[in-house]
Amino acid sequence: MAGLIKREDIDEVRSRTDIKAVIDGYVTLKSAGIGSYKGLCPFHDERSPSFHVRPQVGSYHCFGCGESGDVISFVQKMDHGTFSETVEKLAARLGYELHYEDGGTGPRREDVGKRQRLLDAHKIAAEFFAAQLHTPGAQAARDFLQERGFDPAAAAHFGVGYAPQGWDSLLKHLTGKGVTREELAGTGMFSTGSDASRFYDRFRGRLIWPIRDLAGAVIGFGARKLYEDDQGPKYLNTPETALYKKSQVLYGIDLAKRTIARDRQIVVVEGYTDVMACHLAGITTAVATCGTAFGEDHVKIARRLLSDDGTGERSSSPSTATPRARRLR
Ligand SMILES: [Zn+2]
Repeated sequence: MAGLIKREDIDEVRSRTDIKAVIDGYVTLKSAGIGSYKGLCPFHDERSPSFHVRPQVGSYHCFGCGESGDVISFVQKMDHGTFSETVEKLAARLGYELHYEDGGTGPRREDVGKRQRLLDAHKIAAEFFAAQLHTPGAQAARDFLQERGFDPAAAAHFGVGYAPQGWDSLLKHLTGKGVTREELAGTGMFSTGSDASRFYDRFRGRLIWPIRDLAGAVIGFGARKLYEDDQGPKYLNTPETALYKKSQVLYGIDLAKRTIARDRQIVVVEGYTDVMACHLAGITTAVATCGTAFGEDHVKIARRLLSDDGTGERSSSPSTATPRARRLR
């Protein structure tokens, strides 16, 4: 990424962003008098709301734990991104083009638009798979979950779904939603025939786990074989795409990030079902790599979360926060 974002652009993004609308995406806010909203604080555990947002002033404050700041610090703390990443994300949301101290500009608007279209396609696909889990054809998927002790609520919590047998269920669904051919190719959800002109579903007759980034957006899928006659590998994941880089992906990170930062602990387990089992057993710091070993990039992500003390400062060598890996099977 280019150098420092220009100060005036940061101010512009901050003032143009509707802080209430953004915080609403994380916290359920209720009116608390004129120009003020309140909700349950996302930074500490509480039963009655002491987290206040004042859109006119562009600030939030928690009377319980003292956390306060503006929309940039809020999103940064929630999503555990760097300051620049957070400003870039908010700018993208506004369609605002950033300028940098070294004369560069941020991601081009057209690239931001492309990325968003790709994220939208993933969201639609995740919803499609989740809905398929309740169809008669998904009996094998439901049996698999039940045998491992996951009830429908657990499946819903993790967004588990089912990719139907057949060649074009998802293809038809996404095409029907206006996803273009180029975008379909960019999702990694389709394979091509020998002439490369025909797409078919990559995941067929499989149990599906949506894989999300830190901010909770679906960026790929993990799929487990369910039928004996499936010639493919036991687990099949999204291939490398513009969104999905397996060296940086941690399954469960969206659900685990808060506890990882709070408890300064990360538990790395083997696979999707292990993450589910851990979270349901109360070990909500559990994550898993997806089809690859826990590598350098994963350590970076873990360190960023572990060293996050809520002030936005990053320590490069967290002394109390050595990533702890534990195998639970
Ligand atoms: Zn609080």
